[in-house]
Amino acid sequence: MKVLITGGAGFIGSNLARFFKQHDPQGEVRIIDDLSTGRRENLDGVDAQLVVGSILDYELLKTVTAGVDSVVHLAAIGSVPRSVAAPRPTHDANSTGTLNVLEAARELGVDHVVVASSSSVYGSNPSLPKSEFDWTRPMSPYAVSKQATEGYAIAYGFSYGMKTLACRFFNVFGPGQPADHDYAAVIPKFLDAALNDRALTVHGDGLQSRDFTFVQTVCTAIFEAATKKIHSADPVNLAFGTNTTLMELVELMKQQLNKDIAVEHVDPRVGDVRASQSDGVRIRELFPELQPVPLEEGLAQTISWFQSKQPG
Ligand code: NAD
Repeated sequence: MKVLITGGAGFIGSNLARFFKQHDPQGEVRIIDDLSTGRRENLDGVDAQLVVGSILDYELLKTVTAGVDSVVHLAAIGSVPRSVAAPRPTHDANSTGTLNVLEAARELGVDHVVVASSSSVYGSNPSLPKSEFDWTRPMSPYAVSKQATEGYAIAYGFSYGMKTLACRFFNVFGPGQPADHDYAAVIPKFLDAALNDRALTVHGDGLQSRDFTFVQTVCTAIFEAATKKIHSADPVNLAFGTNTTLMELVELMKQQLNKDIAVEHVDPRVGDVRASQSDGVRIRELFPELQPVPLEEGLAQTISWFQSKQPG
């Protein structure tokens, strides 16, 4: 099959491009990425065509969309604190960018689009675990932009008969996730600090919990969605209902790294949700054969990757 991955030089996108080529070696993988957070090196050894540019460049976007069977739309400015600091660029890339991706697909007759939404859309809804039918109340400009992303994708299904699937990712982690920028995700940040004997910075009491999902699990689901053109008029939580606090994560890292790790607690972050857990029901309905990689196993693979990147 021919697939376009927007944001394919990023963490999830590059893992997905590799996954596509491993599971469909004859297939064609195209990528559009402006390399704002993504990196060319993430695609080392992957036989994919990388076009460097923005999804906000509509004419360029059309040239890479033409002739593909499916689009996996991952390009976004993907950080809550970054959106709080500067909401407009997040809106432009994530909301307007998604509209561009869907419009390009519609104009060129590409009938299947998978988009990346986020558990952050639930925001201030305190119910746990979360079903896709629970109300959403975004607490940050990033979460609003992800609500727009999934809303547009679903509306294109109703309005134009396009086959769309809006996946709400829940704290995806794994090899290739960067630790070296201000808005890095928690697992790479913790691992980088632990491996370099620095204290881990925990915002608040560390009892905030997440439904961590290993990137391989996400790639398996999206690959299946793209190849079988799986679509839905409702979003799907791409997570399986685990509930791990940051302090439990620290304990697991201590065990796997076999060393003591110091923790420094600082103020909670604006816009962060307290607990995030899916009920794991719809994902099992849509992808009955998908077996999630357990946290312990995913973490071990992630640690190995981080260790392989350590200098010396
Ligand atoms: P990432 O930052 O590594 O990947 C995003 C990619 O999009 C980057 O390569 C970046 O360069 C590219 N990009 C940004 N703006 C662009 C633009 N205007 N045009 C073209 N490319 C652009 O992040 P990721 O963790 O791989 O996330 C992928 C998607 O999943 C994003 O949509 C993100 O919002 C969503 N998501 C991720 C998580 C997670 O835990 N990682 C959780 C929820 C949702």
